[in-house]
Amino acid sequence: MIRRTLSQIATMLKVQEPVSTREADTVIRGVSIDTRTLQPGQLYVPIVGDRFDGHAFADQAIAQGAAAVLWNRETPHPPTDRVPVLLVEDTLSAIQLLAMSYRAQLRAKIIAVTGSNGKTSTKDMLAGVLSERYATQKTSGNLNNHLGVPLTLLSLAEETEMAVVEMGMSGLGEIGLLSSIAMPDAAIVTNVGDAHLGDLGSKANILQAKLEIAQGLRQGGLLIYNGDDPLLSGALEGKEGPYEKVSFGMSRRNDYYPLSFALYASGTTFALDDGDELTTLTIPAVGRHQLENAMAAVAAAVRVGMMDLAQIKAGFHKVELTGMRNEIVRIGSVQILNDTYKSNPASAKASLAALSAVAGDKTRIAVLGDMQDLGDQAIDLHREIGACAAAHADYLFAYGPLSAYLAEEAGKRMKPSRVFHDIDKQAMIGRIRDVLRPDAFLLVKASREMKLEDVVTALSEGQ
Ligand code: ATP
Ligand code: MG
Repeated sequence: MIRRTLSQIATMLKVQEPVSTREADTVIRGVSIDTRTLQPGQLYVPIVGDRFDGHAFADQAIAQGAAAVLWNRETPHPPTDRVPVLLVEDTLSAIQLLAMSYRAQLRAKIIAVTGSNGKTSTKDMLAGVLSERYATQKTSGNLNNHLGVPLTLLSLAEETEMAVVEMGMSGLGEIGLLSSIAMPDAAIVTNVGDAHLGDLGSKANILQAKLEIAQGLRQGGLLIYNGDDPLLSGALEGKEGPYEKVSFGMSRRNDYYPLSFALYASGTTFALDDGDELTTLTIPAVGRHQLENAMAAVAAAVRVGMMDLAQIKAGFHKVELTGMRNEIVRIGSVQILNDTYKSNPASAKASLAALSAVAGDKTRIAVLGDMQDLGDQAIDLHREIGACAAAHADYLFAYGPLSAYLAEEAGKRMKPSRVFHDIDKQAMIGRIRDVLRPDAFLLVKASREMKLEDVVTALSEGQ
């Protein structure tokens, strides 16, 4: 994490007032925006949010041992005397500036990861692989926004050699800003789907938003993209750019692709050929889409990390994935693909395909909830997923108001007695229990707001 004196921090922040000699040598170890997790010695940065103003928690931060506090110049009653206070125009811009300035001082190579789906999974896989050879850090959990990215950069150690930084967005301009703060040596775009269609209006806008990741690429930087994604390949191929481009995917048209692969409930195996040798690798993740994420990690490990296949193979054993994303949960002989972290049409299709690929001859049960933020295409897209569910599942449990359309469409293709729609979660859990046999293989997936992990918990606890 950042370790600098207050006078160094003031210089990085271009603070106008000189820091008093008494305070100049105060050492700051890390930055916090949240008194619930603040550690002694950190710089407390109060952020003004929609519901809370962090300035109101400054006293608490100081009581917990904050070494110094930033303060919006216009906000009244800065804490006096107890700890040094640096006045800035705006604390949000200040934490972003501090992160950018700190990043510029670091020797770590930074690999940024964006895309509609698979950012966190790709980030976790790449960081695991790189850790085989390098001192590596990564975004913790899903801290991928205008605050999460600066906090991630400020958490990097001076000794870190490789950092994998996830970048998310909900509107145009956001990824561009994050990229210019992080100045990545390489950027990965996993795919362009329909997540945030409601906010951004069209896939063309989503494409544009993702490609902003190249804005801050360092000179000679690398853009690593999914060449099987028609929007990405259409936008990037055949055009000269200020950066080098590398493609990954499942088809042989890409620079990096698997020669062959096999999907299991316990994970995925695939073969790579580097010209000299043929190597079989294993990833602890389920489904073809997770293999696409792994191929992004392979491309970055070879091109940025200069790693050979033996190192990459060993690195995949070090991967630690974040929960609720294609996580396999076992309840006796029943298996659940817990994918309750989020949903949108592209990721729902990917997970349904994974269900039917790995369930073997087990009974496939899809438990699907509403997908949020799809704007005026929501009904059609729910119908599309209903048709897809009919192709991949034996039973369908649809949950939430929009999922009525999903169930209706599936009902045209499946036995009506095997399609259920509920808006009461407990009622649905009861119905699932009724059909649950020891040979069941479930996929549980919905947007975050639907909290479908409740289903997994209830089934696990046998309630
Ligand atoms: P967020 O935007 O919320 O940060 P994310 O892009 O980080 O999401 P992950 O958390 O890695 O995505 O994965 C979320 C879900 O998306 C997974 O559980 C899976 O269902 C789906 N998913 C992951 N990778 C892909 C992919 N390459 N293509 C399609 N769907 C994917
Ligand atoms: Mg994520």
